Amino acid sequence: MTDFCIQNLSKTYATGQVALDGVSLSLPLGQHLRIIGPSGAGKSTLLRCIAGLESPEPQAVIQLGATALHALPPHQRGIGWVPQRPLLMPDRPVIEQLRWGASESRWLRRQTIVEWLDLGPLLHRRPHQLSGGEIQRIVLARLFLRECLLWLLDEPTSFLDPPRQRNFREQLHLLQAESGVTILEVTHDWNAIRSDSPVAVLLSGRLCQMGLPRDLLHHPA
Ligand code: ADP
Ligand code: ADP
Repeated sequence: MTDFCIQNLSKTYATGQVALDGVSLSLPLGQHLRIIGPSGAGKSTLLRCIAGLESPEPQAVIQLGATALHALPPHQRGIGWVPQRPLLMPDRPVIEQLRWGASESRWLRRQTIVEWLDLGPLLHRRPHQLSGGEIQRIVLARLFLRECLLWLLDEPTSFLDPPRQRNFREQLHLLQAESGVTILEVTHDWNAIRSDSPVAVLLSGRLCQMGLPRDLLHHPA
């Protein structure tokens, strides 16, 4: 199989809140899917279920190529996860935060990644000495330093200023082209949408549309 696919993914929280209601989708490996929808639509829950951080209802199938992700524990899913509010290890300098989980081959190229994200002045700081945007850049560097097959990004540029957002988008695009990683990204940033990559629209826990932007957006004459 050459797709990432989800079948019949539903999640009801203990409060009775239905967060996902029978979501199914498929995406060729190596593509970058943007997920949009209003607050509360279930976007974060979708990523958390794929990462294994929430348990969906048992009939759900989550498949990455030939691998049944839903049957694996979270740490064996080969997923790079960037949560909305990232956390770093307490009390460890940035350089150690980056080393943790880095693959040997990517670690040899760390200087490029440190330059891309302008982390040089931060390498010896500790988490309490960092702003929100700086933490986000470190978490993104950590993602680039790992070998993962699937990246789940939950509003990854929400704390970055516009020039850094643009820079991140360019680097992400280059890195994806090089590594062939599959990306699911929750975003509210219209600049993140590209004409050649699909968009999924979630509303009230349901996938209501998915396709290329030109096929989804209504263009008045
Ligand atoms: P989005 O990411 O699109 O804003 P979420 O996936 O965070 O949406 O939330 C979907 C729905 O599930 C919302 O109604 C939210 O309040 C609810 N929800 C999210 N997390 C929990 C939780 N841990 N317990 C109960 N309800 C939750
Ligand atoms: P932001 O405007 O992004 O919220 P902050 O006001 O938190 O940023 O921090 C501004 C700058 O000061 C950042 O470069 C941050 O790294 C640095 N900084 C914040 N707290 C400390 C600290 N305790 N020690 C050293 N530098 C710090």
